[in-house]
Amino acid sequence: MAEETQSRAPEGGAPSNQGGGPPSGPRGPRPGGQGGPGGRGKFFRRKKVCKFCTEKIDAIPYRDVRLLQGFVAERGKIVPRRLTGVCTTHQRRLTRAIKQARNIALLPFATRH
Ligand SMILES: [Zn+2]
Repeated sequence: MAEETQSRAPEGGAPSNQGGGPPSGPRGPRPGGQGGPGGRGKFFRRKKVCKFCTEKIDAIPYRDVRLLQGFVAERGKIVPRRLTGVCTTHQRRLTRAIKQARNIALLPFATRH
């Protein structure tokens, strides 16, 4: 009845794994799981297809504020393309257009003569 299955206490070696279970299991304690500032689920994210590609809009009209506003957050922040689904090419153009529109909007009506 002397089963020697596991050789414990080897010569010259401290047992490294004893009296403690290894963290077997992806349990990541996330601090502040739902601590969003609010405003989630506002942007459309159903299809991951670029809107401009779908509508075949090559150049993004920077004057079309309504269009641009769909890609700008409330604080004027440009929405990342993972949320909007815009492709890289159009995202770049979109960024430019938004900046351009911003520029215009920021300009006061001081150029009137
Ligand atoms: Zn596109």
